[in-house]
Amino acid sequence: MPDTETANLDPKEIAKFEEVAYRWWDPESEFRPLHEINPLRLDYINQRAHISGKSVVDVGCGGGILSESMARKGAKVSGIDMGQGPIEIAKLHLIESELNVDYQQISAEVFATQNPEAFAVVTCMEMLEHVPDPQAIIQACADLLEPGGHAFFSTLNRNPKSYVHAILGAEYLLNLLTKGTHDYQKFIKPSELARWIRHAGLELVDMTGLSYNPLTKHYKLTQDIDVNYMVYARKL
Ligand code: SAH
Repeated sequence: MPDTETANLDPKEIAKFEEVAYRWWDPESEFRPLHEINPLRLDYINQRAHISGKSVVDVGCGGGILSESMARKGAKVSGIDMGQGPIEIAKLHLIESELNVDYQQISAEVFATQNPEAFAVVTCMEMLEHVPDPQAIIQACADLLEPGGHAFFSTLNRNPKSYVHAILGAEYLLNLLTKGTHDYQKFIKPSELARWIRHAGLELVDMTGLSYNPLTKHYKLTQDIDVNYMVYARKL
């Protein structure tokens, strides 16, 4: 069993995902936004890191929506998460998808000590805003990468607009997410993320926004990083 006492995790955050993990692959459930954004982020990653044949680790992989899609593109994927439910669901789903992903319930920090510089690509999506010390996760992601390796992060910006869109809009008005999914205080400004990336020995290459149109019910990539955004960095 992973060490949940001292690990960089918030039991309340893990519990949020344990309770609903069985609905992970239902595209009409509260995980719908992850299903909707997945093709966009997969393309974003693949256009930059050309993942086919490469070793990829998906940190905070949850039920495996991104992990599986990367495996389908021909990447050799490992998925790690501290949630037991999400990892179980991710493993079960492999039976249906007939894909191969190495899922483990282990912290990013411990996994990085065991696998230093072992991956060409690391992805860590929609996870940093759920952990007590996101900087330590980013450092672990950097440690997992071989020199020149590609890192992808996504999270939620912290400002009045992101509060209105991500909390009031998504959780209260549109019921896209369960109420309490996100904690505004934990949202991360691009300047903070950029600083942590630099401190971890990564070079920031690009930031791109993801915006939701409630009328068309679709997401698209945009220059606007005020709410949801993704970051691409390289290990020096
Ligand atoms: N990255 C996936 C899932 C995002 S949901 C995707 O974008 O599709 C957030 C995930 O982070 C959940 O599966 C939750 O269990 C995980 N998580 C939260 N805190 C964590 C921690 N400290 N260490 C590892 N995983 C964590």
